[in-house]
Amino acid sequence: MGDFASRGRTVLCKWCNQPIPQERRWFPRQYCNRRHKWRHRITETVGSILDSY
Ligand SMILES: [Zn+2]
Repeated sequence: MGDFASRGRTVLCKWCNQPIPQERRWFPRQYCNRRHKWRHRITETVGSILDSY
């Protein structure tokens, strides 16, 4: 239970697993840049469409 006090936790980009420096802790960024954000979203959308077939 010692993880609760860990400050400055590193968030990894959901697309490329690259550590992202967090400037705002109240709104953590989940992607290292906008392109990766869209790529991940498109991949998820396409995946859900393919799943429905
Ligand atoms: Zn990335």
